[in-house]
Amino acid sequence: MEHIECLIIGSGPAGYTSAIYTCRADIKTVVYEGVLPGGQLTQTTEIENFPGYPDGITGNDMMADLRRQAERFGAEMRMGAVTAVDATQRPFRVTTEFDGELLADCIIVATGASARYLGLPSEEEFKGGGVSACATCDGFFYKGKDVAVVGGGDTACEDATYLSKLCNKVYLIVRRDVLRASKTMQHRVLNTPNIEVLWTTQTKELHGEQQGFRKKLTEAVLYDSLTKEERTIAISGFFVAIGHTPSTAMFKGILDMDEEGYIITKPKSTATNVEGIFACGDCQDRLYRQAIVAAGTGAMAGIEAERFLVAQK
Ligand code: NAP
Repeated sequence: MEHIECLIIGSGPAGYTSAIYTCRADIKTVVYEGVLPGGQLTQTTEIENFPGYPDGITGNDMMADLRRQAERFGAEMRMGAVTAVDATQRPFRVTTEFDGELLADCIIVATGASARYLGLPSEEEFKGGGVSACATCDGFFYKGKDVAVVGGGDTACEDATYLSKLCNKVYLIVRRDVLRASKTMQHRVLNTPNIEVLWTTQTKELHGEQQGFRKKLTEAVLYDSLTKEERTIAISGFFVAIGHTPSTAMFKGILDMDEEGYIITKPKSTATNVEGIFACGDCQDRLYRQAIVAAGTGAMAGIEAERFLVAQK
């Protein structure tokens, strides 16, 4: 059976950065890129907040750069997902989607998380043309415009507050008559003059028009969940902030996780409860969810994996 030193699962900024570090430490590294090579960032438009790209860069180009950088030091990229990990034996026994089973001395989990969307067909249509799940990433493109944020949690309130500083007006679409967010966040939202909270409101559909090669969002049709009354708001941006789902199902019962499935790592470390398995990026970060943070924890995982392997020899 094939035996590799370091197996990296996932190909976002965390996975590729950890590969740069392990490969530069002369560790034979294989990256299983998963169902979406390049990760979530390949779904966004332009990235302006990743240091080192003063003129901005598209998500696809940035991920291609990171991939190339990891390959330059010898990382082997493989198609497909890892489907199971047996952590009861050493080396770890791993099952892959296309390559059967293999053995790995250490594993870096960089499987990411995916933003939850409402599931409307029209939402799909406007992804990259008005619909976004990351206000910090895309808010800037809506400077001076009217936008809406969906959700009633801390993320939605934080996004609404952030957008209120850039945009003309922010509608906060809340499905209940209360916010789930912390009192401080609620207070901030309710005291910001250009945020209007639309209580007991849900989204029926989104409308837009063709502009060049892309369809751009122009309005959202909403309905009151109590009265069923409909109303339409004119907006250019629709930010969905209804939570994320970490891609960690495969590690249930193996790695310690919080109640939402985020992998728990030791403080100031990427070490998990299983020695030799490290976790980095959005699969262990419920708070920041930024590419640069993922890359940072990817570097930590690469360094810690190297130290672990050296200690085993
Ligand atoms: P969350 O706390 O799970 O809140 C999700 C919100 O989206 C809830 O208000 C929920 O409504 C709403 N929602 C869910 N599905 C919906 C749907 N289909 N249609 C409309 N609304 C829907 O998620 P989060 O805000 O991303 O926060 C996740 C965790 O990170 C929390 O623990 C939060 O405290 C933490 N966080 C902390 C900070 C900070 O401290 N600065 C910032 C961001 C996040 P209901 O309330 O009706 O269920």
